[in-house]
Amino acid sequence: MSGWLAAARAVGVETASRHAKDVDAAARFPSESFAALKAARLLGIMVPASEGGDGAGIAEVVSICHALGQYCASTAMIYAMHQIQVSCLVRHGAGSDWHRGFMRRVADEQLLLASATSEAGVGGDVRSSICAIEEVDGRFSLAKQATVISYGADSDAIMVTARRTPASPASDQVIVVVPKSDCVLDGQSDWDTLGMRGTCSNGYHLKATGEIAQIIPKPYADVSAQTMLPTSHLVWSALWSGIATDAVARARAFVRAEARKKGGAPASAWRLAEAASLLQLMKSNVVAALRQYEAALGSEDRLSALSFAVAMNNLKTGSSQMAVQVINHALLICGLSGYRNDTPFSLGRHLRDAHSAALMVNNDRILANTGNLLMALREDPELLP
Ligand SMILES: Cc1cc2nc3c(=O)[nH]c(=O)nc-3n(C[C@H](O)[C@H](O)[C@H](O)COP(=O)(O)OP(=O)(O)OC[C@H]3O[C@@H](n4cnc5c(N)ncnc54)[C@H](O)[C@@H]3O)c2cc1C
Repeated sequence: MSGWLAAARAVGVETASRHAKDVDAAARFPSESFAALKAARLLGIMVPASEGGDGAGIAEVVSICHALGQYCASTAMIYAMHQIQVSCLVRHGAGSDWHRGFMRRVADEQLLLASATSEAGVGGDVRSSICAIEEVDGRFSLAKQATVISYGADSDAIMVTARRTPASPASDQVIVVVPKSDCVLDGQSDWDTLGMRGTCSNGYHLKATGEIAQIIPKPYADVSAQTMLPTSHLVWSALWSGIATDAVARARAFVRAEARKKGGAPASAWRLAEAASLLQLMKSNVVAALRQYEAALGSEDRLSALSFAVAMNNLKTGSSQMAVQVINHALLICGLSGYRNDTPFSLGRHLRDAHSAALMVNNDRILANTGNLLMALREDPELLP
């Protein structure tokens, strides 16, 4: 286990798990967990060593998200969303002085980065924007009706997608880094939801100004295909499998307790085997996609290939569905002890949190997109890559 993973697990055991119930009940930002993650200097690990970070790879972050998901899904999701933004910054901002300077701040000050991609009028279509960058004398202004900005209030900066100019088509987008000091967030909606309540994903009318240099030089189409999409699907799937891992652990503890009480394996033991097998499938999917991403990292062509996009989309849609299935199995195993909110086997929060997975970004939208991509691809007859 790496030092970073060990430190994250310690935050999970000592802090995130202790506050998870209250974070969920009050729909509040997991401030204790983030104080601990910052104290362990885990927010800037992906920043290159040349900019004051640790140069950690995506595998480290995926492992940490999986670990945190076992203790508090909201903490894990916020950590995952932050690292998605950091990976875009690191991979596509390395050639820009402004972004390298900002990376140094992320590492030194342990800044927490949020994201404003969703927008009123385009829904969850992250590859379309209505709002646009307006440039005057080397500076920009931007106004966005952002339907959801997770932990917007507690973040230090927000990465915002927008059309390149007011004359650009909806898909000609850029992504701009906006420190909170450069923007005004006018609250439009609260976040009283079924699950992932601690992400505090309120809606805002965002207004920002800044230097043109804050815009990531690469088109957002490339940032999205090569980094944001694969990284999102990897870290999300990792934390969803973390939630499922804890559900299976609770089911296993329940079966053991029943076996001790009754002097033999209970009738539900076979279902534990089924849940464990599904979980194994989930984890294998994450690891296989991670290896595929790592192998593609050196080549923009491989990262932009249709087959790569299909593989990453499949990871997301598959993991999001399987998380709920695994937790459902665990619930059937634990029965009322899992259904109640006051036992060591409670699974309500796991199930509610996991239901967000299919919406984030909506699976129907992703499946429709994958279906279109598949029409342009031949079937791969090989088992091994
Ligand atoms: C916990 C959580 C945190 C989030 N955090 C953020 C954040 O920090 N920043 C951010 O920008 N966004 C965030 N989001 C928003 C997220 O990225 C999606 O934009 C949002 O979940 C999509 O919501 P939707 O399903 O209502 O919208 P849509 O994707 O617009 O879908 C609406 C409906 O239309 C259908 N639909 C739409 N298009 C198609 C299509 N092409 N094919 C088939 N069906 C279609 C869908 O099935 C669905 O029924 C978050 C979401 C969640 C759940």
